[in-house]
Amino acid sequence: MYSEKEQLKNYKSIGIMGGTFDPIHYGHLATAEAVLHRFNMDKIIFMPTGHSYMKEDDVGEKVTPNEQRFMMTALATIRNKNFLTSRIEIDRKGKTYTVDTIEELKKMCGPDVHIYFITGADAIEQIMSWKNPEKLFSLCDFIAVTRPGYKKNKLYEEIGEIMGKYKGRIYYMQVPALEISSSDIRKRVADGQPIKYLLPESVEEYIEKFGLYKKPVKSEVKFMLDKSVMQEKLQSSLSIKRYIHTMGVVKEAKKLAKIYGDSTVVEKAQVAGLLHDCAKDYPADLKKRLCKEYHIELNDIMKEQIDLVHPFLGAEVAKREYLVDDEDILDAIKYHTTGRKNMSLLEKIVFIADYIEENRKPFEGLEEARRLAYIDLDLAMKFILEHTIDYVEERKLKLHPLSAEALEYYKNK
Ligand code: NAP
Repeated sequence: MYSEKEQLKNYKSIGIMGGTFDPIHYGHLATAEAVLHRFNMDKIIFMPTGHSYMKEDDVGEKVTPNEQRFMMTALATIRNKNFLTSRIEIDRKGKTYTVDTIEELKKMCGPDVHIYFITGADAIEQIMSWKNPEKLFSLCDFIAVTRPGYKKNKLYEEIGEIMGKYKGRIYYMQVPALEISSSDIRKRVADGQPIKYLLPESVEEYIEKFGLYKKPVKSEVKFMLDKSVMQEKLQSSLSIKRYIHTMGVVKEAKKLAKIYGDSTVVEKAQVAGLLHDCAKDYPADLKKRLCKEYHIELNDIMKEQIDLVHPFLGAEVAKREYLVDDEDILDAIKYHTTGRKNMSLLEKIVFIADYIEENRKPFEGLEEARRLAYIDLDLAMKFILEHTIDYVEERKLKLHPLSAEALEYYKNK
């Protein structure tokens, strides 16, 4: 988005707005603007939390995935020249601790910079239990913002204790616009109530587009075998390494399905992810024998590179041994390696999840693919196909014609 390093060097006083921003709303924006003026700051940096040490992880169970919270925050702040949105915490692997964030920021700033950390008074009340409070107070001051009607006794006690113990300063500010709250917005969406005028239109549109905060509708999909039975059966036919990868694909496919699809897609994505490599570890001879038995046609490239058979064979194995009869799932397994033109939502989800799942060892393009997957599936498809084709060419392998067709299709989309 911007080079944080270059810009921060020139500032004398900055405020860091730390929060989950799930979603960001006018209360946060009005707070930032008020604080900026009252403390005469050069910039406010919005810092959406990464993997918070106190909350559920970002599988989407409790907190909306990092990239989506980042995107909403960036959309809300982009029009104000005094606001920036930082990826520091979003991009950090592992847990989020404010002391690490401020330390990292401080290194990017000039030597005389004054940093304020701004957040809700609820969070500040817990500050003594945060990681390394002593160091934290040596790095920055705090601004505790409260909603009208907030009972301040505990906050004052906490501030008094901190002032006595550390060098740090905590300022306090009441912001009427904080009558708006993220939890209320989430509840309103779930209940079908309007959220207009509580947050910027661009954020409202984003919530609508990605179906965030809606009440989950129960899925209608039925499977002959229970998912846990499928999983047990699969485990015995895969190597440990492949099983770990598979479970990573299930997790990623579920996350993507929650963003782009409904509850049916979420159910299907988990089963397609689970079975996508079900025939991959079969010995070459068995692969060839089963292809004959199941009438799977092998083109010259598949005969030469027998591993390319596994998605096509996998779809048959899923049907015959795991008793999956859903054509959409079977196609998602069948095309998860080559891709094809005009893929269904489920096919794209499994293809992309296979590429970006969390257990993949880092390689060039992985982080960009992960980023694109949370912005637009077709852009991610194009990016991954291009990289896969480069990979195939570098290794002097032959490309399956379906992949070439797929790339052509997603380039022109
Ligand atoms: P949160 O769930 O987003 O916020 C808790 C409460 O404060 C909510 O009522 C929220 O209102 C309000 N709030 C949050 N950010 C705000 C802001 N910048 N301005 C005004 N009100 C705000 O967040 P959290 O988990 O408590 O964390 C807040 C910040 O403290 C984060 O930056 C987090 O990383 C940091 N923190 C650090 C540690 C640590 O280092 N060990 C521990 C805890 C928290 P809305 O729901 O309406 O946003």
